[in-house]
Formats: sequence, structure tokens, C-alpha cells
Amino acid sequence: MNSQLLQTPIDYLKGVGPNRADLLKKELGIHTFQDLINLFPNRYLDRTRYYKIDQLQRNSSEMQIVGKITHIKTVAQKRNKRLVATFMDDTGKMELVWFRGHKWIKENLKLNVPYVIFGKVNWFNGVYSMPHPEMELLSQHEKSLRSAMQPIYPSTEKLSSSGITNKVINTLMQTLFRELKNGITESLSQPLLQSLKLMPKNKAFFNVHFPQSQEKLTRAQYRLKFEELFFIQMQLLQKKQLHKAKIKGYPFEKVGNYFNTFFKEHLPFSLTDAQKRVIKEIRNDLGSKAQMNRLLQGDVGSGKTIVAFMSMLIALDNGFQACLMAPTEILSVQHYNNLLEWCNKLNISILLLTGSTTTSKRKEIHEKLENGTLQLLVGTHALLEDKVKFKNLGLAIIDEQHRFGVAQRSKLWHKNTHPPHVLVMTATPIPRTLAMSIYGDLYISSIDELPPGRKDIKTVHRFDANRLKVFRFLKDEISKGRQVYIVYPLIQESEAMDYKDLMDGYASIEREFPKPHYQISIVHGKMKAADKDYEMDRFVKGETQIMVATTVIEVGVNVPNASVMVIESAERFGLSQLHQLRGRVGRGAEQSYCILMTSHKLSADAKTRLETMTKTNDGFEISEVDLRLRGPGDLMGTQQSGVLNLRIADIVKDSEILKIARSYAMQVIKDDPQLSQPYNAPIKNTYHQLGKYKNIWNYIS
Ligand code: ADP
Ligand code: MG
Repeated sequence: MNSQLLQTPIDYLKGVGPNRADLLKKELGIHTFQDLINLFPNRYLDRTRYYKIDQLQRNSSEMQIVGKITHIKTVAQKRNKRLVATFMDDTGKMELVWFRGHKWIKENLKLNVPYVIFGKVNWFNGVYSMPHPEMELLSQHEKSLRSAMQPIYPSTEKLSSSGITNKVINTLMQTLFRELKNGITESLSQPLLQSLKLMPKNKAFFNVHFPQSQEKLTRAQYRLKFEELFFIQMQLLQKKQLHKAKIKGYPFEKVGNYFNTFFKEHLPFSLTDAQKRVIKEIRNDLGSKAQMNRLLQGDVGSGKTIVAFMSMLIALDNGFQACLMAPTEILSVQHYNNLLEWCNKLNISILLLTGSTTTSKRKEIHEKLENGTLQLLVGTHALLEDKVKFKNLGLAIIDEQHRFGVAQRSKLWHKNTHPPHVLVMTATPIPRTLAMSIYGDLYISSIDELPPGRKDIKTVHRFDANRLKVFRFLKDEISKGRQVYIVYPLIQESEAMDYKDLMDGYASIEREFPKPHYQISIVHGKMKAADKDYEMDRFVKGETQIMVATTVIEVGVNVPNASVMVIESAERFGLSQLHQLRGRVGRGAEQSYCILMTSHKLSADAKTRLETMTKTNDGFEISEVDLRLRGPGDLMGTQQSGVLNLRIADIVKDSEILKIARSYAMQVIKDDPQLSQPYNAPIKNTYHQLGKYKNIWNYIS
């Protein structure tokens, strides 16, 4: 019955007419009582506090001021009219501004009578002003209840200018709570509530909207955040279990000749403990009856390639094909060359498929894939084309998975009648909390150890003005036989400009490092693949000492003799990109350097990024800073942020609650997988409701 009440259209709430209902729907997505109760305040303001006009500051936010209107005038500007009132207290004057509803305001506002005004304060042309203030006669205001924790609800320009102020929302909320009469059904179990001393749901909702004290507000927020995160975890964990139980994979029962021969006779180095552990984890997955869906994360240079290769050998040992997909042509070529060397030793057939593969070669690949004579396929997006059909694809590996969309990945998945095992690899470490929330349904392996003998890369920040010194340093390094990268930003929107920057840079580097003493390679997105390969190849072979490039070299390129990475306009790169680029050096035994060049104009965020880079080499630490700076949505790309559409919890700030929620969700599922215990009924009901809605807050009832 209660759930029905909550489903009542918002139009039926006292105080909401058709106009308001329309606005609430359009502007805030509030269609039902339930939606309204789930409109959580952005923050709380102390409404027992009043400001004087001479206390206002330029960056003030919402303020409450007592004063009188002395004057009202209409100001016409081009086609727009606005109503401007002069508002004074005993310390100064300011303006109140309305862009709409002039008539009503003009007729109803009283001059020279004390009002309490409330709203956002702007500073413009030497005057403070408050657009569309919330206003109340002081005499009335004194009778109403005020709180030191007045909730401030999300709003829009349109809402406030149409008279749906924060106060109106507050009144509607009061009406709603009177209607509901504490009838919100509990959604957590008693044992859970008790063990975490959580506030009951009714009380929590009430206190979030009408805080009785700071302490109660904190507990109310905790309870609702916990609930939100708990049910997301329940969903993810169930999904993980379901996946394991339902989606059958090819059991790769044996580890056979290919794997063993490679391991015993051809390992180019001894594996790190982390690599061994991860290979074991993958082996276990592949050997089980469920389809593998694993994320392999490991910092740049941690040695993911050999792990990928040995996993593919297991597929081959069981008579299956395998493929490796990389985001760029350069990277896939490099993977191919790497693997080719190993494959030759083992007599494994391997081919490369990219956008620039010739038609005849393509035909050969298609045929051999379908008749099964081709065992391994390496390539770019080209692998996803419909024409590419495998005879029996057993394992698909995706490198640098963050560069591919979800849709692309699932396409690879569906290449078979049976889904192949999937391993996605990333060098962009995912902060733990984020991993828990986004990939909570994936299994994660981490290579958290670099191969022995690696030295930390020394990273410095230099201003453009010091370029000559930097050049001198580069010459020193080159004279020691080292090679150098100089990277320019590439931003899609201004490709032409970036190209010009690159070419200007190239010209100045050519002047500074003249032939024949110095040889320079250049690689950028506008070049033909063959030219890129040629230039890249010269650098790999050591025929050129300097590689001038755009970020196309960001991922994966491996030239151990390169010891310096210069990043131009480093302020324009994101943290994870900087870290990736830096990872191109430090691959050999020599001390390596990363030089971040910038102008003097730096935003606060850019400064933080540069400082982080000079301070640490640890990808996980960097990813945490990145998460703080950019927020989870940006970090993961929009397509994955669905789970992160949180109403009240914040993945960054509430990571502690998230951890607790996850461990409790695990416990609940472990103790009572079917949620059949009577005490788990509230969880079960909620969970089932949840399945019906996209947003997890739509279930409450
Ligand atoms: P990434 O994880 O960035 O893909 P790679 O697989 O390209 O790293 O490995 C980086 C470099 O480290 C390569 O030159 C590789 O041969 C080397 N390498 C990988 N594992 C080891 C190891 N256990 N011992 C020594 N060198 C290793
Ligand atoms: Mg790699």
C-alpha cells in the first residue's frame, strides 16, 4: 500500500498544480512522490545566520540578509527587460534583480518595509546583486521555524525564476512527509541495522530533509549512503556469481606442449612473482567451466605482454585460436613483432590485421582463420569487422582496454557461438574504490611489481624559458648513446593547431640538432602507416636519436635504449596520459628522465598534476589523484558511468562506506545466497524491486 502511495504522480501533492508539476518533471525529473523524497539536498545552510551587506564577498554563495527595498526600476537592454530593486541595510546597498515575472513582483513588493532576502550573491561592475531572491517580510519570517541546517536542494535557473524556490521545495517536502506518515518501508535487515547501528529508514529520510541536529543528520546521511552503495554491491556481486554459474566457457583443461616448452626453454627472463601469480590466476579461470572475464592491471612496463602470450598458449594447447587486440596500429605492430619472435620458436602461426593490411593479405587471414590454420591473430579494431570469423576463438585479449568502448568489446565477445574467455589489460591502474564500483562484477588481477633492476624515472618540471638548458641535457644524453622522445599534445578539436605546433617544434629541433650529427624521426597521426612504420623502425634500430611525435606513441611502444621523455605543453595532458608517456622510458638498465615542459600559465589542477608527476612513479597513487581531480565519470568515460549515477553517496569521499557496504554485501550473499531467511526479507524485496528500475533509488517503498 505504501509503495502505491509513493508512486502517486507528483501532480496530486497538495501545493503542486499542473504548472509546477510540469516544471518539476522537466527540470528535476520528479514525477512521483517517490522522486521527490529522493531529491537529496546538495548541502545545508545555516539559516539562523544573517549577513550585512558590507560583509558580502565576491565569491559569496547563498546569503541571508535583512533590509529594505528603497527603489524599483525597469531596465531595458536590447530586447531584454529586467526589474532592478535597490536593497539597503544599515551598512550599504545592493541590487535585487528579476528577469521574469515583473508584473507580479512590482505589484506585490512593498517599499521601505523590512524583508529577509535569501539567495546567491553575484558581484558585477562594482555592485553586489541577488537574482530572483527568496523573500519574506521580516514580520512573517520571525514567526517561521528556522534551522541551522536548512537543506539546499538542487535547482535550476528556470525553477527559481518560475517561483519554485528552495523554500517552495521545502514546503512541498513537509506536505509530503505529512502524507507519508512515517510509512517508508525498511529495506535493510535487522541484523544489519543493529550490527552497524544504522538509523531506521524512515528516520533517516526525515532527518535528511529536516535535520534535527548535526549528529542526526550525519547518521541519516550515513545510513542512506550505505544503503545506496550496499545495493549496488549486491547487484554487482550477484551479477558476478550469475555470470560464473550461467555463462559456460570452454574449459581449457590442460596446460600442454606450447606452454610448457615456452616456459622451460624460451622464457626470455625469469618471471616476477607478480607475473607468476597472475598467470596462475588466469590458468585457474581458464581451467574452470565458467567463461573468464578478467581485468589485468599492471603499471606501464610491468610486463603484461608475456602474461598475455602465455595465456594464449594455454588456449592453443587446448586446440583453440586466440587473438590480441590493441588500440593503435603502432602498438599492434609492436605486439606482433614481439610475439612473432616467440611464435617462430614454437612453430605457431601468427598474423597481423590492421587498417592498412592489404586486400590480398586480408583474404588470406580470413581464410586461414576460418579453416583454423591460423592460430594467433594480432591487430587493431580491424579485428572487429564482420568478415573476421574464427573457427574456434577460445581467448580474446584486449590491450589498453580503456581505449575501447563497451560496445566494441562486446562485439569481440560475440564472434563465436560460444563466448570466448576474455582478458582485458590496462596500464591505467584503477583506484581500488572505483574498481569495486565499476568492475565489481569483474575479476581483477594486478601485477604490482616491476621487473628487477628498473630505476625510478627522474621527473622534473621545466618552464619553456629554460629550453636551452634542456636541449643541452638532451645532447649530453645522446652523446652517451641514449635516445630521446619529444612529445607534443594532440587534441582532437584543434588538430590543425596541434599539427602546426608539432611542425614548428620539429623545425626548431632540427635547427638545434643538425644533421648529419643528429638524426631525427617524426611520427604523427597524419602520416601514412608505412611512413610511420619506417620512422618508428629507424628509431627502434637506433638509427635516429630523437623521436618527435604526438601522443600516438603513448601506448605500449618499447625502446629500451630511450632514456629521456620530453613532454611539451605538459599542462595540456591528463595525469594518466602523462604517466603513460613517461612509461615509454625507464625500460632499460640506464637511469631515465622525464622532463615536463610548460609555460608559466598554469591552472591549479595543472600544478597538482605536475607536482604529482614529479613526486611519484607509482601508478596507483597517480590514479587516486586523478580520481580526485577529475571525478569518476570523467575518469572512466561516460559509457561506464551508469553505475556511478549516485544520488547521495560520493565514490571518492565515501570510499570508506563503500568498503563496508561491499564487505557486508559479500557477507549477506555468503550466508544466505537466496535471501530466503525471514530476516533478509526486506533486503530481498528491495533487491527485487531494484531489478525493475534503472536507478537504484527508484525502488524504495
Ligand atoms: P607492459 O605491462 O607495459 O605491457 P611489457 O610487457 O611491454 O610491459 O614489458 C616491458 C618490458 O619489460 C619489456 O621489454 C619486457 O620484455 C620486459 N619484461 C617483462 N617482464 C620482465 C621480467 N620478468 N624480467 C625482465 N624483464 C621483463
Ligand atoms: Mg603493454
